[in-house]
Amino acid sequence: MDDERGTVRSARAGASDAPSDRARLPRSRRTVGEAAPPGSSSPWILMYHSVAVEEEDPYQLTVSPERFAEQIGWLHRRGRRGVSVRELMRARAQGRDDKLVGLTFDDGYADFARYAVPILQAYGFTATAYVVADLLGQDNGWDTEGPRKKLLTVQEVTELASAGWEIGSHGLGHQALPGLPADVLAVQTRESRRLLEEVVGGPVTGFCYPYGAVDRPAAAAVRDAGYDYACAIAHSPLTGRFALPRCYVGDRDGAWRLRAKKGRHRLRDAVTSLKHSRRERRP
Ligand SMILES: [Zn+2]
Repeated sequence: MDDERGTVRSARAGASDAPSDRARLPRSRRTVGEAAPPGSSSPWILMYHSVAVEEEDPYQLTVSPERFAEQIGWLHRRGRRGVSVRELMRARAQGRDDKLVGLTFDDGYADFARYAVPILQAYGFTATAYVVADLLGQDNGWDTEGPRKKLLTVQEVTELASAGWEIGSHGLGHQALPGLPADVLAVQTRESRRLLEEVVGGPVTGFCYPYGAVDRPAAAAVRDAGYDYACAIAHSPLTGRFALPRCYVGDRDGAWRLRAKKGRHRLRDAVTSLKHSRRERRP
């Protein structure tokens, strides 16, 4: 438990430039997992939410289209290709993920299709959009203090999926999973998957924890629902295929800060692996 609190605390301190999804989470739900499965180094995955022009952005979820284009251009110049997490995990299984970076967009804002997609297409990049399965075409009512933002409609999600963009599940109702009873966890993971598979007309294999909040029962529910992987945010004792850490990218992140964040990801990865291996060696 101490390790876990330490990880969360240092992750928060390290991400001091961003309020992060944790700031949006009701305090009672902020704890993450207890025990730890064996972990390994994790791929580099960037976390975006909204790409738009926004006057008011209390949760710092929005990156302007100009800044986004600059960030994507920077990745391209560095010889990296942005891909969906589905593609990243496949490439990784074959040891071909060297030059790849996962690009993820949480919540399924309508501005993904309007601003992010054309910029990504210009570079031949792909990405994953994690959508709230029962809120398509509605808005982000769960973020009480921020501006209302439109979410992708059923038709838009269908079109994005058929154009090759990965659509993953962000659960139902944008609810944090830790602390929910087992039957509710099963509904969150299985029902959201079923709804989205109808919309995209194919398998949905990626899950993304609302608020990045994950504990052991939540990760087990996601695995048991048949997903191939799941995205969290912070490194933790649960770090692994069903709690992939991600790097927050905000509107203040230019080239220098992106480079620093990549270094920080590697460092946290090394520390997490070390903690995992120490725990395994314990009698
Ligand atoms: Zn979210």
